[in-house]
Amino acid sequence: MAADVTKGTVQPDLDFIRMLKKSGGDTLKKCMQCANCSVACPLAPDSRPFPRKEMIWAQWGLKDKLISNPDVWLCHQCNDCSVQCPRGAKPGDVLAAIRNMAIGEFAFMKPLAKIVRDKAKLPVLFAIPTVVLLLTLLVTGKLFGFGEGDEVAFSKMFSIPVIDVVFIPLFLLVVFAAGKGVMSFWGALETADAKVGKKRYIKPSPFDFVKYYILPVLGDIITHTRFAKCGGNKSRYTAHLGIFFGFMGLFLVANIDAVTHNLGFHTPYPMLSPPKFIGNLSALALGIGMLLVIFKRKKDEAEGTQVGSYADWSLIWMIVAVTVTGIVSEVTRLIGIGFVAYPVYFAHLVFVFCLFLYLPYSKLAHMVYRTTAMVYAKYTGRE
Ligand code: SF4
Ligand code: SF4
Repeated sequence: MAADVTKGTVQPDLDFIRMLKKSGGDTLKKCMQCANCSVACPLAPDSRPFPRKEMIWAQWGLKDKLISNPDVWLCHQCNDCSVQCPRGAKPGDVLAAIRNMAIGEFAFMKPLAKIVRDKAKLPVLFAIPTVVLLLTLLVTGKLFGFGEGDEVAFSKMFSIPVIDVVFIPLFLLVVFAAGKGVMSFWGALETADAKVGKKRYIKPSPFDFVKYYILPVLGDIITHTRFAKCGGNKSRYTAHLGIFFGFMGLFLVANIDAVTHNLGFHTPYPMLSPPKFIGNLSALALGIGMLLVIFKRKKDEAEGTQVGSYADWSLIWMIVAVTVTGIVSEVTRLIGIGFVAYPVYFAHLVFVFCLFLYLPYSKLAHMVYRTTAMVYAKYTGRE
């Protein structure tokens, strides 16, 4: 039942509260509204700071208010607030759980979202790319062998045009789903503001919108300006920086590969060629970033300042799987152990496929939702 606030009474959305507690916000009822967390948060604005108000809204099950609130996304989960909370209510985790619920709420193609977000459906998630890639090998006649020669080369198994045929439609689907989710989110933010009489009467031109709102936010994201403000959790800043640039580098290399192939270059490239060099450096940055995240999370969980939800750990292990299979397949290819390199490369593609599918529905979706919330906050003068 949807939460209702009329004539000073609150009818809580009990289902939402139950789901929130299941998604990692099980401590929310401990909050006594002392506001220590809002004072401790280095990112909260002075007017209507977070996360105290979100804690009471969560206790009341005010789902619509929470998921259409940009502040939930302005939080960068540094956990300074959770460390300062005298009640152990872990507001940082509660906000993370709210974000997770919001992603599910705005998701386009909800059945796919369920597969990605439900632990019990993990075998289905892996089965989809496995079947697609096995069928691809069958159709290209490479299911039972990849041709002549001793050299181990993954292009013998999946040539770049074949990879393009599999991954470009997947990429477009993911971009479409993420775009639909973001548009629903933006609509919810505007509707929530309109309800309290906040409306922007003069709209900027598309050019000004990009110049004054989108570009500055992208600048903040690239430099990690907001992350750098987090006090007690500096290692998270370093870790996130490694993961962010690792991802960007690998994405760039995938595009370079697609373009250079069409220009007549053939893989595998020499180790010191620009695509290989950038790719290896990015994998290293990603690997170090992930190790820092895992150590920090384990430590916080042991100290009781953070709880690990399925949303957190499934994404972490998926990125680890992509990184490890990528490195192992490359090393075994270089030393010529084909019977290890090819299956590990196949597994690598399965994990990469899953990671793509994760983007609009998992914690990875914060890339688009947080960016949207930051742009909205700038656009409405919240920041
Ligand atoms: S979450 Fe903790 S610090 Fe924040 S208002 Fe509640 S009890 Fe106080
Ligand atoms: S986790 Fe960090 S950014 Fe988020 S509300 Fe708490 S102190 Fe603020």
